[in-house]
This record gives sequence, C-alpha cells and structure tokens, in this order.
Amino acid sequence: MQGKSGFNKYYPPDYDGEKHKSLNAYRGKHALGDRARKLDKGILITRFELPFNIWCGTCNNHIGMGVRYNAEKKKIGAYYSTPIYSFRCKCHLCDGWFEIQTDPKNTRYVVVSGARQKDEEWDPEENGGFAIHDPDANAGPADPLAALEKSTTAQNYVNKVQIPRLESLQEVSERCNSDPYALSSLLRKRFRAEKKIDTAKRAADDQLKGRYGLPETLQLAAEDDEFMSAAREQWERGRREHEAQTSIRKARLQSCAISSTSSSRGRDPLASLKARLLSNTHQSRTLKPPDGLR
Ligand SMILES: [Zn+2]
Repeated sequence: MQGKSGFNKYYPPDYDGEKHKSLNAYRGKHALGDRARKLDKGILITRFELPFNIWCGTCNNHIGMGVRYNAEKKKIGAYYSTPIYSFRCKCHLCDGWFEIQTDPKNTRYVVVSGARQKDEEWDPEENGGFAIHDPDANAGPADPLAALEKSTTAQNYVNKVQIPRLESLQEVSERCNSDPYALSSLLRKRFRAEKKIDTAKRAADDQLKGRYGLPETLQLAAEDDEFMSAAREQWERGRREHEAQTSIRKARLQSCAISSTSSSRGRDPLASLKARLLSNTHQSRTLKPPDGLR
C-alpha cells in the first residue's frame, strides 16, 4: 500500500489501507481541502481573475481587470452541452458580493449582479476600420480559383451527364405517354389478330378431334415451321431405314431366285412365279411421302 504512494507522507500506526482507502479518507478530509467546504451545495472555491474592469455596486470603487478573487464557482445551467458557470466574488474593498457568469453563446463573461461592467469594447467600425465579424452573406469564397474550378466541374457534369440523362428520360416518357389512343388501338389490333389466329386454330383442332374421335382435352402440336421440319426429318429417316431393310430382303430373295432358276432353268415355273410375286410386292411397298409433308 505505501510502496507506491508512500513518499513524504505520514501514515499513522492505526492506518489500514484496506479499510481507509486513502489518507484523506482516514483524516476525514477532501482532496481539495478547504476549497471543497461548500461542495455539498455544488460550490467549489476557485481562483478567479476579473476579465474586465468593473465598478463595485456596493462601494462604487473601480476594480481593475486582472484582480484575483477566491470565487465560489457553481454550475447554474447549460447552453446546449456547454455548462454555464457562475463566479461569486466578495469585493476586497467592502463586504459586498458581485456575481459574474460565463456566456457560452457569445463566448464572453457578463456581470449579473453587484457590479457594473465598464463598457470599453473596441468597436473598429466606430474608429474608421472594418467590422471584425462581417455578417456579409454575399462575401466571395476564400479561394476564387478553387471556387472557379469547382463550378467548372459542376458545369461539366451538368452538361455531359445530367442533361443527356434527363433528355433521354424525357424522350422515353414522351414516347410512352404522348398518344395513349394510338398506343391503345395498336395494342388492341394486335390482340384481335392473335385472337383470330387462336380461334381459327382451335376450330381446326376441334374438327380434327371430331374426325378422329380424339378426347377434347388432348393438346395438339402447334403447326409451326420447326415442328414441321422435325416431323419431315423423322419421316425421311424412317423411309431410309425401311428402304435399306427392303433392299436387303430383296437381294436375299433375288439370290435365292437366281439360285433356284440357275439350278432348274425353265423347269420350275412355280418358283419363278413366286420370285416375281415377291418382287412386285416389294415395289408396291415403296412408300411415298404423304401430301401434307411434301
Ligand atoms: Zn466594494
């Protein structure tokens, strides 16, 4: 306990660090001593220096700027988050008290009671100079070149980005909203045409279903070009396969017939008749594409 803060301080034998925590607590005193005697009222005694010349309101003596007092400092309010302090001082020439407060709004001190402030603020305008706090709203920017650059950039942005964008948006808007009647009639015309096609197709489908006794709910394939070409291709493939098979069979039959005729030329009319019949059958089987797919 004393190891850290024990220099130049007397610790009585009955002092217990655990119990008393600090020497001030052991002695029953505040760390600020006598200056904290009114701390329970929120008052701290501080050294305060007069920020300007005043006349004491009680003894009417002039008290110069810079005279120091033991003032009672007290927080009396706040300007936004800045506390407002009051300093209550006792005149050193009489027993009168005067009070000075801080004024955060105007960053200054004001005499509240018990004294008069000597009005001696320097006003440059009265003395032929310029006002310090010139409330001129039309004052130019601090750096004219920077301002010019900034305004040029802004102008370029307006010309190159904002105006074209606005124009294109306006164009779109005009195209969409300029003639609602024409747009509506165009739309309805298109709709009517599509409806007509749909109706015709449905009628044709119904007819087809009626003819072949197909169920009403059956979906018929659409007769578009893609579907037609696919169907034609499929048909062509089927025909090629069929032709290949037929030619194989025909070759086999012919070889059989040749062998039979060579072995018994003119002697077996039944075999030759059979071969001729088969050959005819093959010719009649050669398929032709249906009219719809030609
Ligand atoms: Zn006085």
